[in-house]
Amino acid sequence: MRSDGLRLDHRPFALPGTRAQYGPDRSVDVLHVDLELHPDLQRRRLDGICTTRVEAIAGTVDAVVLDAVDLQISGVRDEHGAALEFSQREQRLRVAFARPLARGERYEFSVAYAVEQPRRGLYFIAPETAYPERPLQAWTQSQDTDARHWFPCVDYPGERFTFSTTIVVPKGLFAYSNGRLISRLDEGEQSVFRYELEYPLSSYLTSLVVGEFAAHHDRCGEVPVSWYVEPARAEDGERSFGKTAQMMDVFQRRIGVPYPFPLYGQIAVHDFTFGGMENSSATTQTDRTLHDQRAHADFSSDPLVAHELAHQWFGDLLTCRDWSQAWLNESFATFFEAVFREADLGWDEYLYDVLGMVKSYVREDSERYRRPIVCNLYREPIDLFDRHLYEKGGAVLHMLRGELGEEVFWRSINRYVSDNQWQSVETLDLVRAVEHASGRNLRWFTDQWIERGGHPDLSLSYAYDDAQQLLKLRVKQKQAIDAEHPPYRFTLEIGLLAERPAAPARDHGTAPLSGERRLRVQIDEAEHLFALPVSGEPALVRIDPGNFVLKTLALEAPPEVLAAILRADPDPVSRIRAAKALAADGSRVAVEALRAALLEDPFWGVQAEVADALGETRAPWALEALSAATGVPHPKARRAVAAALGNWRSVRAAEALLPLAGEDASYFVMAAALEALGKTRDGRAFELLVRQLQYPSWAQVVACGALRGLAELADERAVSAILDSMVYGRPEPLRRAALGAAGRAAALLERQRTRILDALTAQADDARQFLVQLACIAALEAIGDVRALPVLARLEGGEDPRVRRPAAEAAIKIQEGSRKPVELARLRDDLDALKEENRRLRERIEELARR
Ligand SMILES: [Zn+2]
Repeated sequence: MRSDGLRLDHRPFALPGTRAQYGPDRSVDVLHVDLELHPDLQRRRLDGICTTRVEAIAGTVDAVVLDAVDLQISGVRDEHGAALEFSQREQRLRVAFARPLARGERYEFSVAYAVEQPRRGLYFIAPETAYPERPLQAWTQSQDTDARHWFPCVDYPGERFTFSTTIVVPKGLFAYSNGRLISRLDEGEQSVFRYELEYPLSSYLTSLVVGEFAAHHDRCGEVPVSWYVEPARAEDGERSFGKTAQMMDVFQRRIGVPYPFPLYGQIAVHDFTFGGMENSSATTQTDRTLHDQRAHADFSSDPLVAHELAHQWFGDLLTCRDWSQAWLNESFATFFEAVFREADLGWDEYLYDVLGMVKSYVREDSERYRRPIVCNLYREPIDLFDRHLYEKGGAVLHMLRGELGEEVFWRSINRYVSDNQWQSVETLDLVRAVEHASGRNLRWFTDQWIERGGHPDLSLSYAYDDAQQLLKLRVKQKQAIDAEHPPYRFTLEIGLLAERPAAPARDHGTAPLSGERRLRVQIDEAEHLFALPVSGEPALVRIDPGNFVLKTLALEAPPEVLAAILRADPDPVSRIRAAKALAADGSRVAVEALRAALLEDPFWGVQAEVADALGETRAPWALEALSAATGVPHPKARRAVAAALGNWRSVRAAEALLPLAGEDASYFVMAAALEALGKTRDGRAFELLVRQLQYPSWAQVVACGALRGLAELADERAVSAILDSMVYGRPEPLRRAALGAAGRAAALLERQRTRILDALTAQADDARQFLVQLACIAALEAIGDVRALPVLARLEGGEDPRVRRPAAEAAIKIQEGSRKPVELARLRDDLDALKEENRRLRERIEELARR
């Protein structure tokens, strides 16, 4: 029996009416697809001939059914040119063969079709009055199930076929697709491009791009590595894609399997719906990632580039059998972002990246829903592409690395890739590969972390027993435990040092420090008490060096112990954990340790987290410490300091922020300072925020920060500026920021709520910029007003699957919220003020106690 009542703290993932999804039956194996394509960019039309070669799997096959949405079919012919009967029903095309096929028999047929103004799958980009600078382009986005919008196909990841394209475009335009460019012929006013990919791909990995692009060529060994950007953006392209060959080299060595295709290319397109798409050998990237030199100081395309490149192995060479198994694509690609970071920037950056994965997963788990990573209960495949699929899975792979150890882990990865190349995979294939490579049976591991939702929530304490020379370690799993949710099983490593190092070493890795003793304890109960024999009191106890176990952890220790960790543990995650606990402690020892770490920690990630922890305290001493740190050299640490200063509604905080908000070497520091300045509600803020809306910066970063700051001001004068910035025709990033700001302003300014709500509902249906539409839904959710429910209901029932779930979730949250007081934002503000008051009182008491 299931005790659902216990789990109300986590929303279910499955929305009402969701059914289990299974892959389709296959009557034929699709061997090859050839496309002859005539895109017309002016008329937003594609004419094509799709030739498909199949082999019968089932007994007698007399027809094949393909996915085809809004395709106008003008005829179907067999390979001899004879017309075949066909019919179209409910987004499917049924082609009747001239005679039934026996099992193993092959057959080829060609579908002549056209599509005009496609709704999805194929996107036409062109200049218009609102955006006269826009380039003329066409590009496809086939994942998850949108290839059917631009050619008839078996649109399912488990079906793999070789692929060739002939693309006819007006002379001067470049056409791009998967595989090798076999020929490029200029015939009169036309250019004809021929591409062939002799390795199998799934429909969702097919690509077509047309536009004006400049090519840049590089190599990784024998493999040509190219990228294509708009001609004017060659330098930005180099900044974004210049490390691709280096990444390929790192991944080949790590995986031990060469890059799978004969070449690799990336093409940066305008208004792309996602960040990047790992089309086999021919990745499509958003041109939003192209950036200037100034942004490059604290923005990098490397994570995006590494992600899509890793997919060429995990996704393209090995493809998830169906979408429920998509973690075998996304979690690996996310994990390999960190793998490249480690190779490029060191171990601390790697660990901090993994910590980021854990944080973003835990946020989704606690605020949105909890689900198993492998899950076939969904409405649309896109619904699965969440923080569980990417970040939790990435963190699970890091944990597997710790569980198996360095050598066995990489040998297992090699075995998994070698054994399954050009195949569809599911979780069991990974388990088997690990078993073959190491003898370890990890079914329990995948059951626990992949097939089940959640993670252990630990509290840990230790004490030294001088009389018995024992270190007593208590580990408690605090999450709800019952028959269906047994305690987690994992290995916890502990390091003991008799002497504390003088300072934390950078990029120390996982090896023990000199003089460090390592112990491994097995956890599989709700509570353990270990008595570890030691000779003398350890000067430093290291918990889970490498932070391998996916968990939330409260370390219960006195401030002196926490300060020692913050000052000496080479593991940045341990230092961050200690800093968070010290900030909550607030004693003099804590204050001193935090102040020192903020200014002197050797890793910017720790400095940034210390700043964040100080901000959370809202204590006067923390404000002093942050005000003294606005000059920390690393721009990402400085950004965190600026953001943290927004926790005080005080003149002191505003004065620390004003110079950063006015000018800084980093766009992002300026943006964070502008937002924080708005939060201080200082009298000088409004004028500066309005002025900085005009500050020229890459991707409007500074102006977006100013908009967020204007929203936080809770000043009615700001509303017009916010609403002006979200109009169609303004730059897309600015529109998205303005929508977020509008949501916030509406929550803070009751008298403006109707005006803002009207503006948002008026544009919620506008699907011209998909990411803007998502931002609009998020803003409606943030406002929480029931008047938004009709438009959300319309979007939930609309035709775009990418929008349906966000709209449904927003509606559910608004309905839930409508049962609570509407003045939530204001209440939160009051609560913050109370907390600060409380903190001051505690400090006073401490001061008195010390006297
Ligand atoms: Zn991906």
